[in-house]
Amino acid sequence: RNYTREDIFEMIEEEDIGFIRLQFTDIWGMMKNVAITPGQLQKALEKGCMFDGAAIEGFAKIEESDMYLFPDIRTFEIFPWRPQQGKVARLICDVHRPDGHHYESDPRNILKCAIQKAAEEGYTLNVGPECEFFLFHTDEDGMPTTLTHEKAGYFDMGPLDLGENARRDIVLTLEDMGFEVEASHHEGAPAQHEVDFKYDDALTTADNIMTFKLVVKMIAKRHGLHATFMPKPKAGVNGSGMHINMSLSKNGKNIFQDPEDKNGLSREAYYFIGGLLKHMKAITCLTNPTVNSYKRFVPGYEAPVYIAWSMQNRSPLIRIPAVDGEETRIELRSPDATANPYLALAVLLEAGMDGIRNQIMPPESVDLNIFEMSEEERQALGLEKLPMTLAEAVDELEKDELICKVLGEDLSTKLIESYREKYREYQQQITQWEIDQYLHKM
Ligand code: ADP
Ligand code: MG
Ligand code: MG
Ligand code: MG
Ligand code: MG
Repeated sequence: RNYTREDIFEMIEEEDIGFIRLQFTDIWGMMKNVAITPGQLQKALEKGCMFDGAAIEGFAKIEESDMYLFPDIRTFEIFPWRPQQGKVARLICDVHRPDGHHYESDPRNILKCAIQKAAEEGYTLNVGPECEFFLFHTDEDGMPTTLTHEKAGYFDMGPLDLGENARRDIVLTLEDMGFEVEASHHEGAPAQHEVDFKYDDALTTADNIMTFKLVVKMIAKRHGLHATFMPKPKAGVNGSGMHINMSLSKNGKNIFQDPEDKNGLSREAYYFIGGLLKHMKAITCLTNPTVNSYKRFVPGYEAPVYIAWSMQNRSPLIRIPAVDGEETRIELRSPDATANPYLALAVLLEAGMDGIRNQIMPPESVDLNIFEMSEEERQALGLEKLPMTLAEAVDELEKDELICKVLGEDLSTKLIESYREKYREYQQQITQWEIDQYLHKM
């Protein structure tokens, strides 16, 4: 929203704001915040709010630990679930170094740089996410479980749908905070839900995804439920994804459409797809950054496995929804909500722009169900798989110069090292499955 500083101070007065949360997102995609009182805001806007960067895992080293939060006043929003006297508002911030420069590994700054580069060529990326999540019960100590009494499925209603009231509250809260919610519904698995909000420019959408996850978790908690964006909390049922819908506009007009083309797509749209496919393996490390993300990539649960695009069906990685005009878009179906949205959108934009800059034509679309093909048929089409583990995805990231460059040397090195370490740690676990399989028999 286009607020001025005066607007902000006026709202603080009129709305009886008692606290302002200065928020930012760390490199793992976790939201962090510090609360200040309205009396401190003037100073924070002018000089930034100092914090210890060294205490934020993955941020600056000890010798340069002083960092500053600079609030982006367009992001002012009141938390509707906090008290109505002495209300709590938030401002999303950029992270600066003591010398006043942007901190180069600040995820929001990385996305801003990618957006700026595309803008210099006249392009704006618009993004609409579809976030899925589970609402599970908590135990008597309030600890989250993966239990639900619910048996509802896709588009079911109450009383089967026990999350109905929580979901209603989630939608109303989001609307209070300026979201335009387009749809909300029960998803395929018991206790699984989806709430879709309207697309916006990439930076606003990344901010919105962070706010969305906070709202879903807060409101679920008020209903005695635990909301989780964990990609595959239960074997045998669908996992939770975060489909990313993307289009480019120039001078406010969607330029992915071309009524003359047999698929209704412009050259730029094809090139953008070409760029995405070219860098998809490395991108996957950022759109699916947890060990558990890769448990979602199995056939039979509406998640993609092969690298392909399609006009026709919902099994592939990239789908072109059957819409035209301003709604023309491409849908990437691999991402999940454990992604850091700033980093994910930054690499998606740069990969798509690489396609446009170098006129990378994608292979033919695959309009049959890939999962029903034989291995020979898939090989004949040259269909490759997405990385099947976090370890594979990290190797792909390391090999992809362009994607590493988008992240910057410091951050890419840090992410590669720590994801590798995470995977090693995971590999050293002995799972219940192994115990069940081998302990008695072997
Ligand atoms: P699906 O058919 O995959 O279930 P949804 O209807 O749930 O798709 O979600 C579609 C998403 O795409 C919404 O967030 C919507 O705002 C977004 N969207 C619509 N038009 C565009 C566009 N031109 N660019 C980017 N996103 C768009
Ligand atoms: Mg949907
Ligand atoms: Mg829909
Ligand atoms: Mg869905
Ligand atoms: Mg979708």
